Amino acid sequence: MANVAKVLIVGGGIGGLAAAVGLHQRGIDVEIVEKMERSEVYHVGIIVQGNFLHALGKLGLAERAIAAGFPYDGFHNYDTQNNHLFSQPPIYMGEGDFPAFLGLTRPALHEIQLDAVTNAGIPMHLGVTFSGMEETGDGVEVTFTDGRSATYDLVIGADGWNSDVRRLLMGDAHEPEYTGQGVWRYNVPRPDDMRDMTLFRGKPGGTTGLVPLTQDEMYVFHVCGEEGNPRFPRDSLADELRKRLEGYKGPVEGVREAVDDASQVVYRPLYAGLVPAPWNRGRIVLLGDAVHSSTPHMGQGAALAVEDAVVLAEELDEAADLTSALTNYAERRFERCKQVVEGSRAIGDHEMNPDDGLDVPALFARVYATLSQPL
Ligand SMILES: Cc1cc2nc3c(=O)[nH]c(=O)nc-3n(C[C@H](O)[C@H](O)[C@H](O)COP(=O)(O)OP(=O)(O)OC[C@H]3O[C@@H](n4cnc5c(N)ncnc54)[C@H](O)[C@@H]3O)c2cc1C
Repeated sequence: MANVAKVLIVGGGIGGLAAAVGLHQRGIDVEIVEKMERSEVYHVGIIVQGNFLHALGKLGLAERAIAAGFPYDGFHNYDTQNNHLFSQPPIYMGEGDFPAFLGLTRPALHEIQLDAVTNAGIPMHLGVTFSGMEETGDGVEVTFTDGRSATYDLVIGADGWNSDVRRLLMGDAHEPEYTGQGVWRYNVPRPDDMRDMTLFRGKPGGTTGLVPLTQDEMYVFHVCGEEGNPRFPRDSLADELRKRLEGYKGPVEGVREAVDDASQVVYRPLYAGLVPAPWNRGRIVLLGDAVHSSTPHMGQGAALAVEDAVVLAEELDEAADLTSALTNYAERRFERCKQVVEGSRAIGDHEMNPDDGLDVPALFARVYATLSQPL
């Protein structure tokens, strides 16, 4: 046993909420600080796969996620003129009888995770972060922006790609870097025949995708090169997305016409980074995007964060001592995360430089084979 009884989690996103539930299940006293005043997320869709559902299932939440989303088996690739290129056959990752893919709204996933935290009675302090953190040998003394202070056996930094906890531990040595691309998203009604994810490849610099989310809704995403990491005025976002969807034939044409509400367009520049193991310094450990931020090209960021949480909870419960638990955790996670971060980055680079010789189906097959291995 790692002798960890009291844990602070910094960050109430996908990984932090999963870690809270996983630790609570194992009898560990846990609390969360989340710097946002309200615990809410953008109304965008995400794509998750069997390994995400397997990990979420360990927390008892997979069935609710499946019921809230739109399960599908594979994805189809077309060119910009709507000619079929290849279809990715279903790959059922993760043990258990889970669908290969699930389209899910981000608010639906958030509600499921938040309910689990609330039902477990886990305290979540909103609008609060740490103002200081110091290790004392047998604990970490933390002061908070709301004036409180407390000592914990372990602190988990689950504060996302722009992690303050990572900077506290490692300075700016492992800042994620801008990849040269950004992703645009918008929700639209789902036609009956849109039952699998459909990608339209070959526009210089990017890919467009249509992803079913619920019986009624799907979303369009467009990943493309955005030179110089530009910022866009909020009220220009619908025009900017429509501009980027020009030139496509087939279903994207109709979707383009429907993009008319700038307030509902979500644009994010893409950053990628990977921190080498170990992922802890003493009693402070990192999890999720804070240690491995990947671009969305493989739809794996959420899965990796939940898998981290499950493995960390397991190690804290089962390893001989805390040092072994944290070492084992990073060792078990590193290669899997590295393949996703590097593979996703390679696909984005390929979109921007299509003559680089990358065999995209072979890359997917290789990474999916790794992700199909037990955690
Ligand atoms: C546009 C976009 C599309 C994506 N699409 C997909 C997809 O389709 N499929 C997929 O699997 N993944 C996708 N991802 C990635 C996925 O969202 C992330 O990998 C995942 O959210 C990582 O979880 P996390 O808990 O590490 O970080 P986050 O979910 O980002 O959570 C971090 C939390 O920490 C809080 N925080 C930050 N700093 C502090 C602080 N100092 N103190 C307290 N709280 C703090 C933040 O407010 C936030 O709530 C996408 C990401 C983006 C940006």
